[in-house]
Amino acid sequence: MGKGIDPERVERHLRTLIKGELRFDELTRVIYSTAGCLYKIKPLGVVFPRDTEDVIRLVEYAYDQGISVTARGAGSSLAGQVLNDGLIVDLSKHMNRILEIDPEGGYAVVQPGVVQDRLQEALNEHGKFYPPDPSSSAYSTLGGAIANNASGARSIKYGTTKDYVLELELVLSNGELIRTKPVPVELIPDEFPGRPGTLEEEIYAGLKRIAIENKELIERYRPRTKSSSGYNLFDLIKDGIFDLAKLITGSEGTLAIVTEAKLRIADKPAFRAVGLAHFDDVSKAGEAVPKLLEMNPSAIDVMDGLVIDLVRGRERALDRFLPEGIEMSYLIEFDGQDREEVF
Ligand SMILES: Cc1cc2nc3c(=O)[nH]c(=O)nc-3n(C[C@H](O)[C@H](O)[C@H](O)COP(=O)(O)OP(=O)(O)OC[C@H]3O[C@@H](n4cnc5c(N)ncnc54)[C@H](O)[C@@H]3O)c2cc1C
Repeated sequence: MGKGIDPERVERHLRTLIKGELRFDELTRVIYSTAGCLYKIKPLGVVFPRDTEDVIRLVEYAYDQGISVTARGAGSSLAGQVLNDGLIVDLSKHMNRILEIDPEGGYAVVQPGVVQDRLQEALNEHGKFYPPDPSSSAYSTLGGAIANNASGARSIKYGTTKDYVLELELVLSNGELIRTKPVPVELIPDEFPGRPGTLEEEIYAGLKRIAIENKELIERYRPRTKSSSGYNLFDLIKDGIFDLAKLITGSEGTLAIVTEAKLRIADKPAFRAVGLAHFDDVSKAGEAVPKLLEMNPSAIDVMDGLVIDLVRGRERALDRFLPEGIEMSYLIEFDGQDREEVF
């Protein structure tokens, strides 16, 4: 946060700019000083924008005054990334509407504060689902999932959030509002984006240069497995298409605030089967993984002997599924549209 910032003055100024609520009282600042993490940083104040216009006004003001801004959804992330001594922007209170579901087009348009399970429930009625499934989905938001590139047990089959983000509406660090779209890389910067002299234009031209000049380096460090660390330069240009949304996904709110997202949705599997595999030795359990992956499961969850013993002692109904002497078990799920594919 900039030195010599007077909270009362900031609050007074913001009241003239923003329709949503502002909370600069001690109780709110203490509540927002932590999240699903171990850390604590008391913010200057908390803003609850009503709409994208509010986010723009807030960011323009903060940019002008040198105050840092951190977006927040449900605050369930674990590494302290929603904490800041500047302004916290809570998008979960008002900007939480599902704007469109197009089952034929295979997409949904949402505001960032939509809780992930609410989207799932709405899609269910259309025979669709949104595959990324962090286990916090009952309360975590889609804005947070995009910023974290969240994923869950089904990522081995379905991938992570970045595989489902089609377009993003973003407020950039100077308050500029842009909408990302995949664009042929050769059109940058001459034909796209079309507004000369903007930060958007600078970003597209600069990123294209970085991606091309460092192509070899980027390829060398491409993660072999799921990774959420660092900026995703690996998918910024793919098959000649430049997609800024791929870089924003997983950037932890450090590059822009997401105010709207168009997300790819999938057909809900017609069949789902779950099996349990027990191992009396941890190394045998490890050796089984490549063979299990060849069978294209939709999820594998691991339980060790300690957890199994605890469950066995408490839930009599489960005892017959959990014999004695287990060191490790896999709960393996298969799904698909055809019965034969699954069973
Ligand atoms: C019990 C538990 C289980 C979990 N399981 C999983 C799991 O299985 N998989 C997984 O990936 N994660 C998991 N998490 C971590 C976390 O819940 C998820 O990553 C979740 O998607 C974060 O969403 P949120 O709304 O809580 O985001 P927040 O914690 O509020 O924010 C997360 C990040 O996103 C940024 N952000 C939020 N909204 C926006 C926005 N609109 N624009 C730009 N940036 C924004 C924030 O600044 C921050 O950097 C788990 C957490 C808990 C507590």
